Amino acid sequence: MFCLDEYLADLEKLINIDSNSFDPKGLSDIVDAVEKIALRMGFFVKRHKTSELSADYLEVSNRENAEKYDVLLMGHLDTVQPVGFAKEHPFSKDEEYAYGPGTCDMKAGALCALYAVKELSEEAKNKLNIALIFNCDEEILSKYTTHLTQQMAKKTDYAFVMESTSDKGTYTTARKGSGTYKIKFKGTPGHSGYIFDYFTANAVVEMSRWAVELHKLNDREKLFSVNVAIANGGKVTNVVPDYAELSVNIRVTQKSQYEIFENKIKELAENPMIEGVTTEIETISKNYPMIPVPEMESYLERVRKVFDSIGQKFELYPIRGGCSDGNIIADAGTRCIDSLGPLAKGGHTHNEFVYLSDIEPCIIRMKALMEEIAYNKD
Ligand SMILES: [Zn+2]
Repeated sequence: MFCLDEYLADLEKLINIDSNSFDPKGLSDIVDAVEKIALRMGFFVKRHKTSELSADYLEVSNRENAEKYDVLLMGHLDTVQPVGFAKEHPFSKDEEYAYGPGTCDMKAGALCALYAVKELSEEAKNKLNIALIFNCDEEILSKYTTHLTQQMAKKTDYAFVMESTSDKGTYTTARKGSGTYKIKFKGTPGHSGYIFDYFTANAVVEMSRWAVELHKLNDREKLFSVNVAIANGGKVTNVVPDYAELSVNIRVTQKSQYEIFENKIKELAENPMIEGVTTEIETISKNYPMIPVPEMESYLERVRKVFDSIGQKFELYPIRGGCSDGNIIADAGTRCIDSLGPLAKGGHTHNEFVYLSDIEPCIIRMKALMEEIAYNKD
């Protein structure tokens, strides 16, 4: 039987561990803490090394060395809050909410995954190979663990991401992909007073043209957005600037929109308006949109029945603008539903909280989803 007090005692421990994505010490502490809970629950645990700058990737399962998984539950253990934040804002709770860094994004959801599998009926557990995976770099675009999540997703039939939901009963199967680019412009400097006497090439003017041209790619109808976010260049007003830098973030709903953007930057680079300015393009990050695989359509009908049977609402948020590890899982071709964690608010702010009233319902829905799969395996 699920015991909320036991869950909250575990949550308190996890919330009070600082786990900023760039703090390997805190991250390895939180991986240790989650591993301990998993072992206490009787699961098998495997740790995968990632980077010295991060912490191990934790694979938990009800089966030792399974080659294929029916169900995958995923959560991340890192937060965006700085080291020391958990000490200043430790776990607390009142009648309605639990507060603290990671209550919303997303330690409460990660912990619900463990409890849901633990609470699953023995019969269903025997029928299913279930994996739970926990990474520590989701907030930095899963830079050290994307390949591991891809590998896990490829050997899985159904995946659930335990990010929290901010609207009761509203879940996610589609998210935009996000790409970040930095463009460096190199020109030729010169004295402001002698622009027509000597050759100069103004890097700031060329950069400005790019800013306008890239901004024009925004397409509201196709939900393709280009945010020209950071522009830098020039030092003093009496010198023609020979250097400028532009950082741009794009959000795509189709992989082909990356091509539209990349073709445009290639075209701009090949045809500078300011003669003599050269460009260097750096792709900082690029992750693909979460697009439901075709099999999702029939699966969602089954999911609706599951939610009806437990008296919970099931609605899909049209398309989320932010990314999660669901993007990686869906891109690997796996059926994936995201935001199944408990109702919570305030992610990435100083006032995060989770609704205590949705903890047990979260565990109930996860159990019901897994049980349905146990009896309707392909
Ligand atoms: Zn998150």
